[in-house]
Amino acid sequence: MRIKKRITIIIVMTLFVMITIFALPSGDLKTKDMMLYVSDDFAVYFEPQDEKAAKDIIMTLETKLDSVQRSLRYEKTGKTEIYIYPEQSVFHKKKYGLLGSMFAPEWYVGDHIKDKVIMTSPLSKGLVHSYESMLKIAVHEYVHTVNYQINPKLPLWINEGIAMYLAGQRQTTDLSLTDIPSPDEIATRNPLTFAAIGGYELAYTYIEFFDQFFGRDKLGQLVRQPDDFEKLLGYCQEEVYYMWVSYLEHSYFHPEEVLL
Ligand SMILES: [Zn+2]
Repeated sequence: MRIKKRITIIIVMTLFVMITIFALPSGDLKTKDMMLYVSDDFAVYFEPQDEKAAKDIIMTLETKLDSVQRSLRYEKTGKTEIYIYPEQSVFHKKKYGLLGSMFAPEWYVGDHIKDKVIMTSPLSKGLVHSYESMLKIAVHEYVHTVNYQINPKLPLWINEGIAMYLAGQRQTTDLSLTDIPSPDEIATRNPLTFAAIGGYELAYTYIEFFDQFFGRDKLGQLVRQPDDFEKLLGYCQEEVYYMWVSYLEHSYFHPEEVLL
């Protein structure tokens, strides 16, 4: 009986270890067929069928690099690595492993791992994105790598808002004032909650407001000291929140009132 129990425990543990290893991301971001293309500031890995898309991504990133770095008052030495996967499923597995990839949403096509960008090829964009919006996603993820290098603990709302704003991902919105998340909700660190409260539509407008009201220089400082609004701006975080809500009301929900 004891031996049987031991054997069962050993089998269960072996299975657990095997499943864990199988389900984890491999760690190596390259696939075996990947080629390398290098520009002044980027090293892009891609499979042969994605060569044109890889060059379009590099061109877009090289064009945007200066304004992103100036906006965030950041200067990187060395090349940023970009990994372009031929299929969304390969991208999902590289980020979350086999198990995690089963739960990845369809719109999820780009991310960053520390200072590296990983994304699905614009040629395999799926139903949610266009080729052009995928190029903006490359810029968005690049901005995240810069944010990460300045402040790896940057709150999600500011991090996503800056990435969307500097990548030019302004969204049309059906939201109304009653849908605006509370100060507590925008402090979330959970990406799924962020998406559920309209973060991918609204965080852009928060940074747009911030930039127009406080200026680009303060935006660069915000990444460095996101928890000290009072010292940075002379207003506490909650005051800035209500200023943003008022901006939304006039600029997005009732723009005609601005003319009166
Ligand atoms: Zn993002």
